[in-house]
Amino acid sequence: MIKIKDIKFSVKKYEYKKPFHITNSVRTEAFNVEVELITSNGIISKAEASPSFRVCGENSDTVMSVADKARGVLAGKDIKRYGNVFNDLKSSVDSPSLKAALEFSILEALCKESGIKVWNFLGGVKKEIETDKTVVISNIKDMVLEAANIKKEGFKILKIKVGENVDKDIEIMAEIYKKTKGMKYIVDANTGYTPKQAVYFAKKLYSRGIDISVYEQPVDRNDIKGLRYVRFKSPYPVAADESVKTIDDAVNLIKKEACDFINIKIMKMGFSNALSIIQLARANDIKLMIGCMSESSLGIKQSVHLACGLGCFDFCDLDSHLLLNEKRNRGEFIQNKNIIKIC
Ligand code: MN
Repeated sequence: MIKIKDIKFSVKKYEYKKPFHITNSVRTEAFNVEVELITSNGIISKAEASPSFRVCGENSDTVMSVADKARGVLAGKDIKRYGNVFNDLKSSVDSPSLKAALEFSILEALCKESGIKVWNFLGGVKKEIETDKTVVISNIKDMVLEAANIKKEGFKILKIKVGENVDKDIEIMAEIYKKTKGMKYIVDANTGYTPKQAVYFAKKLYSRGIDISVYEQPVDRNDIKGLRYVRFKSPYPVAADESVKTIDDAVNLIKKEACDFINIKIMKMGFSNALSIIQLARANDIKLMIGCMSESSLGIKQSVHLACGLGCFDFCDLDSHLLLNEKRNRGEFIQNKNIIKIC
């Protein structure tokens, strides 16, 4: 028996290097909740919750407001029987980002006791993953410059935020394409378009010979019919991001044939529910990508272990730590340009 002895929670503030501007949202700082789990035999595991108010309606204050309850539920529980511990957590705490951090810290503590890493425990499929890097919404000149810089830095996959102005977005994509030929593109509208606008955008780019690897969340999160419409009318694979936060969401999207990809983010769904949604997607031939909220390197580590362990993600969008000011990398991984390798 390895009991959970104590859990400490603290709020950490990170500043963005540049304002993080996506459809209808600009953030200059992120407030994450750090978790330190201590076991009865002295194992310490650190993890991070990065709550998203826009997507999940939670922030560091709401996470901290349920921290005591979570500690009370988990104290004294045996991490060797973590399935029970996860169930207790699920039935009593409704913060997805806190669940992600706590579930990861429990798995990591158990793995430390066993002398392995979490990614090995999950399957050990890949030793390293490739991430994209994001261009946020700005004026055309700055977005094109940023895209060209990301290419120069050595990234091969570019994520581009669009969704506030469809005609400007088409122009931006055309200009970015000129400067970054050879890169793959993930275009994320963050719910910004109507279904008709979304198809118009895709057809315009297609007619200019621009390929898009993933067309992420073009329409409103609740408009599953609209998402399906875009999927069948546009030439690019469509990903659901904001539309998938729960297992039920995933079941519904799959039944309605509304997407080609599901974007897994542990901060939307918790770690164990992410595993369930991944299984569901794989069984139904839905492709997978993995994304992030505003995690620092400590929080990104959690998704890196998931991605390396399972090796099932066609695209990894794990770059939030690169967009934040951080004194040092605390993720116990080596970042070599676009490649992330667990050390
Ligand atoms: Mn997204």
